[in-house]
Amino acid sequence: MKNAVVTGGGSGIGAAIVARLRADGLNVAILDLQPSDDEFAHVADVTDRAAVDTALNAVRAQLGPISVLVNAAGLDCFKRFTEVSFDRWQRVIDVNLNGVFHCIQAVLPEMIDAGWGRIVNISSSSTHSGAPYMAPYVAAKSAVNGLTKTLALEYGPAGITVNAVPPGFIDTPMLRAAAGKGYLGDIEKTIEATPVRRIGRPEDIAAACAFLVSEEAGYITGQILGVNGGRNT
Ligand code: NAP
Repeated sequence: MKNAVVTGGGSGIGAAIVARLRADGLNVAILDLQPSDDEFAHVADVTDRAAVDTALNAVRAQLGPISVLVNAAGLDCFKRFTEVSFDRWQRVIDVNLNGVFHCIQAVLPEMIDAGWGRIVNISSSSTHSGAPYMAPYVAAKSAVNGLTKTLALEYGPAGITVNAVPPGFIDTPMLRAAAGKGYLGDIEKTIEATPVRRIGRPEDIAAACAFLVSEEAGYITGQILGVNGGRNT
């Protein structure tokens, strides 16, 4: 049975990915900031390499080698660029980009040893066209897309695929918090402007991830698979 780790697996999109991969028969461990009752949940801030290594070692002790990694932990930021402090800029880059660096670098050696691995990075539909007032977030998520393509080239020969799923407008605590602060405008108007005429569900992203980590997706790597109801093409 394959062992997977989902960062940010305690909430929203990450939680849906955990549920879907478990339903598909994988062992799935969670890395997230908050403790949880889940037997396979480990507290770690993805920006803290020592904490990531400790949590991943606990996963290995519980389940064995890790062959699937989904990076879903993320932190948004809504501020005019001129008002973004450098501390805030660095924290948003740290969580969304450096956290992905730490987690991928920590699991690659065992995937290389196994000659098989699947990595999916949850980026953002904001990378398609930019998004006003989200500069550090879009910069970090765009870098994640670039990292995805590069690692696909480096590790394809080792049997490891690396893809990104940029979600758009998915109904999660992160989106509801941003909407509650008035950052997203009128949700109903956004739905009217969305070709499939609904808000996205975390399960929509989980379905794409489930496919990308499957055996049959082995010829798909370095791809950015938008799941956004047609808002970005
Ligand atoms: P969410 O409900 O806030 O879930 C994100 C999870 O990541 C939370 O459990 C959060 O913990 C955790 N997390 C945050 N910082 C972390 C850190 N440093 N280390 C470990 N875990 C951390 O948000 P979501 O909407 O499901 O987002 C999931 C991913 O999709 C994110 O990467 C997000 O940027 C991306 N995304 C979402 C949308 C959307 O429409 N919802 C659109 C584009 C991209 P806390 O709750 O304790 O902070």
